[in-house]
Amino acid sequence: MPINLNLRPGGYLEVDNRPAGGQHFEADTYTCSHCQTVVILNPSRTRERYKCSGCSHHVCDNCAAKRVAGEPCKTYAQYVDERLEQAVRHPDSGTLILP
Ligand SMILES: [Zn+2]
Ligand SMILES: [Zn+2]
Repeated sequence: MPINLNLRPGGYLEVDNRPAGGQHFEADTYTCSHCQTVVILNPSRTRERYKCSGCSHHVCDNCAAKRVAGEPCKTYAQYVDERLEQAVRHPDSGTLILP
C-alpha cells in the first residue's frame, strides 16, 4: 500500500461520502490571517491567491478585496489585541468583542 508522505503547510480537507454512495473530495485549505476564515483551495481554480504584503500570509477573497481597495493589513491577532485593549481601558463602555 503506498504511503502518502506529501506534507503540506496549511490545512487539509477530506470529505468521503463514498459509503453513502456520494463523492470523495479532497482539498488543501488555509486560514485567512485577517479574519480566520478557512478557505478551501479549489483544485480547478486558476486565479492566483492574494498574498498580503503586510503579513506575508494568504488571505481570503473578501480580505484581499479590502486590501486592494486600500485598507491596511490587520491580522486577526492584532484586531483581538486592539479590542481587548479598548475593553481594558474603557471597561464601562460596554465594548463588545465581536469577530
Ligand atoms: Zn479574510
Ligand atoms: Zn495582512
